[in-house]
Amino acid sequence: MNSVKKVVFTLIQPVTIALIVLFWGTAPAYLLEKTWLITVASIVIMAMVQALEFANERHAAWRLDLREFLTDLFYVVLFFAVISKLETVLVEDPLASAKHALGITTAWAMHLPFVVQAALALFLIEFGQYWLHRLMHNSFLWWTHAPHHHITQLNAMKGLVGNPIELFLVSLSVIAFFDLPLSAVFCALNVIGAVSAFAHANVRFYPPRWYAYFFTTVEAHSLHHSVGFIETRCNYANALILCDRLCGTFRQGESDVVGQDERKRLLIPQQFLFPFRPLIAMIKSNPGKSAPVSG
Ligand SMILES: [Zn+2]
Ligand SMILES: [Zn+2]
Repeated sequence: MNSVKKVVFTLIQPVTIALIVLFWGTAPAYLLEKTWLITVASIVIMAMVQALEFANERHAAWRLDLREFLTDLFYVVLFFAVISKLETVLVEDPLASAKHALGITTAWAMHLPFVVQAALALFLIEFGQYWLHRLMHNSFLWWTHAPHHHITQLNAMKGLVGNPIELFLVSLSVIAFFDLPLSAVFCALNVIGAVSAFAHANVRFYPPRWYAYFFTTVEAHSLHHSVGFIETRCNYANALILCDRLCGTFRQGESDVVGQDERKRLLIPQQFLFPFRPLIAMIKSNPGKSAPVSG
């Protein structure tokens, strides 16, 4: 192993996060008003992580082919063009109005240093997501989340591959109830997107121990993608693995074989219909019951 490469793949995750914080912490006000900026920043980082897969591959079996690339790309477009927009209209805006109507204020949060504000936003989003994700592995909500676990290889964009209901649900957060500058919230979202891309990437990283203590790595997340339903019940955190350490669900290790059941890769229509499988099975087994009674 070339030592320069080793240094690059040791530092690239923490340095990327530091640069994201620096960018949002120093971005001029006129730029922060551009709502497309967070989308562009997220896509640029994701593209960078995707490119790293060709520089230091983790597993040949996870190599991106055209079919995987097009499927992943479909979900990236779906997320940024549809799901995040629906989230704003159906959840974020109504929550902001409710906060205003109820007179909820957290003015103290506006006086914190920028890095603390971004860390607070990151923790609020991630802690909520941790519990929702854990609930998905322990309730009927599994039907919405299972398609994400049926992926048979990890790649940078795979964090966004899943059933649309799940993608909508995991984006929910209570952040709208807090008074925080938009730059801090965007910074947290950008960091979460970057860590999630790193944690799904087919890249051999050598993360510093302190980094892997706080942030989700591909080692920890690959273990969450282990074959077998019970084996997936660990390392739930999307970006802040600290949540698993605090809640007792952290497991050390990694997995190079990922997927569910017989590791059969699902097609996009199968991923979309997956939550309705119990209903479809019920209708198929009882076709007469749902027919209207005549005469
Ligand atoms: Zn999961
Ligand atoms: Zn995943």
